[in-house]
Amino acid sequence: MSITDERTGLSPQRTTATNSGATGNSTMGSTVMERGLDDEEPPGKPRRHPLWRNVPKKNWDDWRWQSQHAIRSVRQLRELLAFEPDDLEVMGQLEAEYKLAIPPYYFSLIDADDPTDPIRLQSVTSPLEANSAFELEDPLEEDQDSPVPGITHRYPDRVLMVTTHVCTMYCRFCTRKRATMVRGGWDAISHDDERMLDYVRCHPEIRDVIVSGGDPLTLPYPKLKYFLHSLRDIPHVDVVRIGTRVPTTLPQKLYDKELIDILASAEKVWVQTHFNHPREITPEVARVCRSLLRAGMPLNNHAVLLKGVNDDLETMRQLMRALLRVKVRPYYLFHCDPVTGAGHFRTSVWKGLEIMEGLRGHMSGLAIPTYVVDSPHGGGKIPLMPNYLVSASDDCVILRNYEGMLVRYQAEDKPATLRETATRGVSQLVQGTKTALMPDGNERMARRRRNKKARAQRAREASEAASVCHGPTPEREHRLLALPVVN
Ligand code: SF4
Repeated sequence: MSITDERTGLSPQRTTATNSGATGNSTMGSTVMERGLDDEEPPGKPRRHPLWRNVPKKNWDDWRWQSQHAIRSVRQLRELLAFEPDDLEVMGQLEAEYKLAIPPYYFSLIDADDPTDPIRLQSVTSPLEANSAFELEDPLEEDQDSPVPGITHRYPDRVLMVTTHVCTMYCRFCTRKRATMVRGGWDAISHDDERMLDYVRCHPEIRDVIVSGGDPLTLPYPKLKYFLHSLRDIPHVDVVRIGTRVPTTLPQKLYDKELIDILASAEKVWVQTHFNHPREITPEVARVCRSLLRAGMPLNNHAVLLKGVNDDLETMRQLMRALLRVKVRPYYLFHCDPVTGAGHFRTSVWKGLEIMEGLRGHMSGLAIPTYVVDSPHGGGKIPLMPNYLVSASDDCVILRNYEGMLVRYQAEDKPATLRETATRGVSQLVQGTKTALMPDGNERMARRRRNKKARAQRAREASEAASVCHGPTPEREHRLLALPVVN
């Protein structure tokens, strides 16, 4: 048994999830089957895998315990989940290349009976990671925009600062897996810390520093404080953004007041969370979001569009609603980058546009992220959205709203024109003979008709009440005479 196996409580002798001969609570075959997840998304109460059922709450809520008991090997995984033998062989080979870490808290969100479970897909090694065709190690060419190791300077007023290669959970789709997941990846970052900060100090055009990794919240506290306070003390830096998956995968770390105090003391900190699925937004997450907000840090979410995880409209709508409930602003929806070993997570851009079509207009504007593709050759984020500009002329544009209504929008500096036309449809809007085309059966229009009727009814009633209160006017008198007398 390895040290990790001992810590996690798994031993090679235990029964696998597929072994029907498993007995007792401690055997994974039976406990996984017994477990049963409710269908609630996001979960309304904390979840715990039966393996850790008897762990005292004090330990469960301790991030150190969670980190020490993280699942870190394929051998541990096979004790907890069912795999095809061929897959296990490939996963074993991948293990030598890519790191694996899943804290018990995050693992407990997996439905062990579902091989396509969205939490499992994000965290558990897949044999598909061996199938890269045309994906790249550094698809965003960050290394080419790096003036000093650890800094990517691409946009005019902001830089990315990579402060560590360590994460609490290694996301299988990670864009920076060349640094985070590859064993023996960047080990010299600490020597370059001061150089990175000097670069920011020497470039007064830098207003916004994105502190990322790896996950900066895995840094030892003194080092985290050193980075954050150094950035705070640079006068031209307005914003320090911390990109982190700690709230998602190890929220217990943010139960630690010392960490919250460090973040708050840096004054300029905004936290960029990374939630991809509504099930990730648990009561534990709600608790840490409250702590961060109370300490004065705005929360914005980055989600990645991932095949099998969140590439359908209803899942994405649930995710956006769940984020708003914990007061996290959906900020970006990233198209999945073509990174080596993560090709199986990629969807078409059309899928992203389909999802955005179902969000914009249908949900609160607060719930709408900007959908972006990170351009090849380091071109940066390019926002995409469905087409809302349908046609145009010299004096107007024709716009479409979320309902499919087409409307003429007059240019502010041109007189409205009306050009007779034999054409129909959109051309009539362009020529000015119509101002809008509305699809049949439009609910908003039906509601307007109902509102109009209700307003007319209220006006009648008010007029009648006014007649009774203020006495009859000559016109009303005639009507009042006809009313029955009530004693
Ligand atoms: S936490 Fe972020 S940096 Fe770390 S593996 Fe996940 S996506 Fe990559």
